[in-house]
Amino acid sequence: MINSFIDIDSKLDKINDECGVFGLYKKDEELNSVSITHAALFGLQHRGQVSAGITVNVNGELTTVKELGMVTEVFTPKILSNIPNGNITIGHVRYTSSESLDRASNQPLVMRYIQGSIAIAANGSITNFADIRKELEHGGAIFQSNSNAEIMSYVIASERCTTQNLEDAVLSAMDKLDGAYSAVICAPTRLIGFRDKYGFRPLCIGKIKNSYVITSESCVIDSIGGEFIRDVEPGEMVVINEDGFRSYKAKVTADKTSLCLFEYVYVARPDSIIDGVSVHNARFKAGELLYEEFPIDADIVCGVPDSGLIAAEGYSKASGIPFGMGFVKNKYIGRTVGTGKDKKKRLLKTRITALKANVKGKRVIIIDDSIVRGETSQHIVNLMRLAGAKEVHMLISSPPFICPCYFGIDIHDKENLIANKMTIEEIRQFIGADSLGYLSIDNIHKIAANAKINFCDSCFSGHYNAKIPKTLFVDKYAKKIKRQ
Ligand code: SF4
Repeated sequence: MINSFIDIDSKLDKINDECGVFGLYKKDEELNSVSITHAALFGLQHRGQVSAGITVNVNGELTTVKELGMVTEVFTPKILSNIPNGNITIGHVRYTSSESLDRASNQPLVMRYIQGSIAIAANGSITNFADIRKELEHGGAIFQSNSNAEIMSYVIASERCTTQNLEDAVLSAMDKLDGAYSAVICAPTRLIGFRDKYGFRPLCIGKIKNSYVITSESCVIDSIGGEFIRDVEPGEMVVINEDGFRSYKAKVTADKTSLCLFEYVYVARPDSIIDGVSVHNARFKAGELLYEEFPIDADIVCGVPDSGLIAAEGYSKASGIPFGMGFVKNKYIGRTVGTGKDKKKRLLKTRITALKANVKGKRVIIIDDSIVRGETSQHIVNLMRLAGAKEVHMLISSPPFICPCYFGIDIHDKENLIANKMTIEEIRQFIGADSLGYLSIDNIHKIAANAKINFCDSCFSGHYNAKIPKTLFVDKYAKKIKRQ
């Protein structure tokens, strides 16, 4: 076994997921809403490891527990046993690209407004965030955080002043909020879920016994023993109360829906089904299509754990080249969160080992989901060579990243994207592979060809269906903290 410990800042060299949400409206007395929500957050942990939180509604009174850390760190058995078992519960796991890792951005966010208290948990990125925040600040608003959830709360609260009920306020807010969001609200008598008009981020509805759930990914519904009902549609708001669920549509619709293609490639769990397409099947198809584009003569095809594994199986099936384990990943090295000076502690340390017994003396194809800066790929190729591979061919199950994402995935800076600065041949030389191939844009659209909605491919194509921010929000206060 060739061991190597890499210490790479995941914020720059790997794509990070951006939050998962869950909501439960409990109608069955025997169900424990806290245990179910806790289990659901485990199922969503892959979407965010920076903080976790749960809000429980007991007869209109909200109790919230949230903290920086993974679900297991935040919800110890003692803490869980002290959370009351309510009839409406929401939960959240967060990833952030913010330097400050401020606790104030942890969710669910509880809002006390003119009509009482509600809690909100959101996934995504509001693209008119800076404009809305400036307008609100000029009107005297004071913000505790930089979270999308806080902006959403303000807009909903403002709309509630001129609407008949919370449902109308959320619908009006949806017309004002641009960009990507899938969110849940815990209100005194109902659970609300809503998805932006483009459908960038997934959101679905399920049932467990007579109770309803709304969550980011369908795998969660399976993991809590529930039954999938359907996806929340782009621009739809779903309201669940004693009588079941009702659906409403926002007035403003998108010219074209825009589900994030990268959900299928990397973000979502393989056992999820998003807008009618299995994530596992989409990854497998990506591998088959990679073989169509790059039929390489090799002895073994391996995937980089975890999201490259299924594409590698697809390539193997299409090519007849045996699939094998090329790497072993230590699953017990997680992320340590800290603040300010502790930045180093927050680096994701990925311990990955090349499986010498499987690759020595062989022509190896490695499949990974993406390349951001290139250092991780360089390291992976090097590990394979140290393990004695005769040839190392790298294939990527998505097209090159050339543009930023403004819709909730952490691809912020063009300067950090290697494909924006180098040709594919130059990248091949940089990572040290014998050959390098990326799935084409035409083919990435085929991996989820049966999906019920259209796709966003902006980071691969540079064409944006949705409005992108005119100005980016700059947190002056966070800068001040950094300088100290
Ligand atoms: S720009 Fe890329 S990562 Fe962002 S939503 Fe679109 S496909 Fe997904």
